[in-house]
Amino acid sequence: MPVLIPIDESGRSLVIKMSSEGSKDQASGSDGSGGGGASKGKVGGSSSDGEQQHSGFNPMETLEQLMRLLRPWQQADEDEEAAAKPEQLLEDVTLEGVVKYMQSNKCKNIIVMTGAGISTSAGIPDFRSPGTGLYDNLEKYNLPEPMAIFDIHYFMERPEPFFYLAKELYPGKFRPTPSHYFIRLLADKKILLRNYTQNIDTLERIAGVPGDLMVEAHGTFHTGHCIGKCGKEYTQQWMKDEIFADRLPKCTECEGLVKPDIVFFGESLPMRFSKLVMEDFPKCDLLIVMGTSLVVHPFASLIERVPVTTPRLLINKEKAGEGIPRLRQLGMDAGGFDFESKDKYRDVAYLGTCDDGCYKLAEMLGWKDDLDKLIKSGHEQIDGQSAASQPSKKPSEGETDQAEPSTKAESPSKAEAASK
Ligand SMILES: [Zn+2]
Repeated sequence: MPVLIPIDESGRSLVIKMSSEGSKDQASGSDGSGGGGASKGKVGGSSSDGEQQHSGFNPMETLEQLMRLLRPWQQADEDEEAAAKPEQLLEDVTLEGVVKYMQSNKCKNIIVMTGAGISTSAGIPDFRSPGTGLYDNLEKYNLPEPMAIFDIHYFMERPEPFFYLAKELYPGKFRPTPSHYFIRLLADKKILLRNYTQNIDTLERIAGVPGDLMVEAHGTFHTGHCIGKCGKEYTQQWMKDEIFADRLPKCTECEGLVKPDIVFFGESLPMRFSKLVMEDFPKCDLLIVMGTSLVVHPFASLIERVPVTTPRLLINKEKAGEGIPRLRQLGMDAGGFDFESKDKYRDVAYLGTCDDGCYKLAEMLGWKDDLDKLIKSGHEQIDGQSAASQPSKKPSEGETDQAEPSTKAESPSKAEAASK
C-alpha cells in the first residue's frame, strides 16, 4: 500500500504527512514541471497550488493533486493490492448476506454499537436535532451555553440545572424499545460479545441485557459517586429518591455532591471502555452499528477496530461513518464504511428506524416470535412496577395482547417497506 491515510487525525496533520510523501515522490520522479524546488515540498503543477498548501489548508484539493501524482505508482501496485484484498465472509453484501452469515457457525461474537437513535422511539430526546433536541430546549436553565449542562466544571459550580434536567429525563420513566430487546435477544442466543452504547438511559439494562455484556462508553445513571472527599458509591435508587424529592444529592458521609456516573465534558471515558475495546474488537465476527451518526470520538472510530474481514452492518435513518468518500472515488483508503464502491465486500446499510431494522432482522432470522415475547413480557413487567410506584401514570392503557411495541411505527410490514 503506497498511501496510508490516517483518518483519525485532523486535516492538518493529514496535509503535513501527505506533503512530505509528495515531495519525496516528486523529487525522485522529476515530475515537477513548474520549476519549484522539491525541498519546499511543492506538490501542485502551478505555483498557486503550492501556495495554497502552505497558506493553509484545503486538504481535499491537496489530496486530489497528490493522487494525480501518485496514480502511476498506485497502478503498479494494483495486482499486489488485489492479492491482498481481505477475504469476503458474506456470500452477498446485503442484509440477506448478513442474515445467512449470522446463521452460520462463523458468527459467534457480535458487537453492537448503539447511540441515541435506538432510544428516540421510547420518547427520549436526542441531543442535537434542531428544534426537538435537548440542546435546543434548555433556555429555562439559564445556561451560558447549552452544553454547559454536561460540563464538569460548570456542574461543580452550579449543579442544580443538571439535576432538574435529570429529574425530567430520569431513567425508569421510559420503556426499552424493540431495538433494546433485539440486543437482549442476541445475548439470550449467546452470540452477543458486547454492547457498546453511547446512551446513558440504562434502557439496555432495563431490557435485560446483562451488565457484564454492556460497555456504557459515556457512563450510566446506574450508579453514582460522591465527588467530595470520600468517593462513596451510591445506587440509582438512592439518587433517584433524592432527585425526585428536589434535593441535591449530598453524600451521607462527607456532604460532598453525589454525581451519577455519566461522563461529563471534561471527564475521561470509563476505564472499562478502553480495557474491553482492546479485548473485544479483535475477536469480533460481526459488528452491528445502530442509531448513531458516528460523529463523537473516540466512539465513532471503533468501527475501524474490528478485523478487516469482519462484516459490518449499519442500521440507521441515514448513512453514517463513511469516512471520506471522495478519497474512495480516487481509489484510496477512505476509512469508514464502504457501502457503495465496486470493491465493497463487508459493509451493509439498512436505512430506516432502528426498530424497523431490528424487526426486519429478527423476521429474517426466524426470531420474530422470540422478539415479540421478550418485548411483551418486558413491557408488562415495567408497567406493573411503575403502576405500583406511580399510581398517577396509566401505562397499561392501550396495551394490546399483541405486545405492541413502544410506538406504532414498528410493524414488520413497515419495516419491509423501509428496507427497499
Ligand atoms: Zn462523600
